[in-house]
Parts: sequence; structure tokens; C-alpha cells
Amino acid sequence: MASSEPPVAIVGAGPTGIACAIELSRRGIGAVCYDKGFLLDTIYHFPEEMRWFSTRDLLDIAGVPFSTPDAHPTRLESLAYYRGVAEKFRVRVVPQTRVHEIRSHPPRRLLLSIEDRTGRREITAPAAIFATGFFGNPRRLDVREKTYRTSTGALFRPILFTTATWSSSARRTRRPKPRSISTATAPASPSWLEATRSPTV
Ligand SMILES: Cc1cc2nc3c(=O)[nH]c(=O)nc-3n(C[C@H](O)[C@H](O)[C@H](O)COP(=O)(O)OP(=O)(O)OC[C@H]3O[C@@H](n4cnc5c(N)ncnc54)[C@H](O)[C@@H]3O)c2cc1C
Repeated sequence: MASSEPPVAIVGAGPTGIACAIELSRRGIGAVCYDKGFLLDTIYHFPEEMRWFSTRDLLDIAGVPFSTPDAHPTRLESLAYYRGVAEKFRVRVVPQTRVHEIRSHPPRRLLLSIEDRTGRREITAPAAIFATGFFGNPRRLDVREKTYRTSTGALFRPILFTTATWSSSARRTRRPKPRSISTATAPASPSWLEATRSPTV
């Protein structure tokens, strides 16, 4: 790709978005991650005492070892690790910028409708990658959420949702190929997120 080419647009600056940006840059392709929140916004909003059920060897990206004392990293260790990898590989992140829609823009472009603090506008990109995770779009169960106390006395609030049924319902109804893709309808980022970097880990 010529250097005058606009960068590939990556929607989401979580672990997947960061990993995609690094892999593209290793192939000489420029990329920018747009995130409606900040770098690693999902993990930042994980429950305080959360530990991954996955082990560290399954969570590393870009070939950088994820070294932690325990096999199941904590939320804070994950924030530090992924942020360190993003900084090492100079991943470009545009925070507080929500991608609303992506449309094809012939001959070989995509048109992204994005919204930041200055308002809504459109940008072009040669390609886009969705790395939006699912945390912002929970499929909520019809159960009243409440706060529980663990055996150690800590308070926690479970996140009640399921990721099931999309593929089965999609198989039942053959949908026409979309000409544009509308992205998440998650709530807006909290207004207290003012800095241009993710909050201190
Ligand atoms: C409590 C908890 C425990 C978990 N434990 C595990 C585990 O052990 N192992 C495992 O594999 N997974 C686990 N997960 C799932 C975990 O969320 C993902 O593995 C991981 O965060 C996925 O990374 P990602 O980059 O794909 O998505 P995310 O980390 O969710 O990142 C997506 C990013 O996209 C941004 N975004 C979304 N929509 C838009 C938009 N329209 N415009 C701009 N930006 C947007 C979000 O702000 C976010 O920063 C867990 C999840 C939870 C909630």
C-alpha cells in the first residue's frame, strides 16, 4: 500500500484492535484504532477484582510474552500488559471517537461515519476491521441486577448477559447482504473521561 494511502480503520482499541494494528504495521500497512472510549476501554470497565478465566499464554498478543505471577492475570495486569504492547509498537489510537456506520465508497474506498467531541463527520479508509468486542452490547437476561457480597466480604455486581443465539437466528432468516454496516448502539462514554490517554492503570 502506498504511503499516501489513508490508514486502515480499526474500530475498537481493545486487545484485538491493538493486535490487528501491529500485524498490519508488520506488513507495512498503516492503521488507526478508533475507540468510543479509550485504549482498553472494555478491560478498564471490567469488575475490579476480575481475573481472566483464560490463562496468560492464551491472552498474549504480537508475540510479546504476558508474564504474571499467577496463570490467570488480573484486570490491572492486563491493562498494564496491553497498554505496554500498544506503546512499544506505537499503535495509533483515536480515543472518544465512535464509529457509527461504514459504507462502501466506490471505487475502492470505505466511508466511515464517526463522532467525536467536535461532532459527526465522515472519513475514508481503504479497509476497515471490526474489533468491537461485545462488552458494550450485552444481550441482557431478564433478571434484576443486584449487588452481592463474596465470602471474603468484597462486593460485586454480576454482569448478566448471554452471547447465544445470534448464529441460529441468522440461519433462520436469510438476510440480504447489507450495503452499509451500522455499528454498536452502546451508551456514550462517561463524560469524566477527559484525558487523551487511557486512565492510569
Ligand atoms: C468479566 C469478564 C471476563 C472475561 N474473561 C475472559 C477470559 O478469561 N478470556 C477471554 O478470552 N475473554 C474474556 N472476556 C471477554 C473479553 O471481553 C474479551 O476476550 C476481550 O476484551 C476481547 O477483546 P476485544 O479487543 O475483541 O474487545 P474489547 O476488549 O471489548 O474491545 C472493544 C473496543 O471497541 C470499542 N468499541 C465498541 N464499539 C465501538 C464503536 N462503534 N466505535 C468505536 N469503538 C467501539 C470499545 O470501547 C472497546 O474499547 C471476559 C469479559 C468479561 C466482561
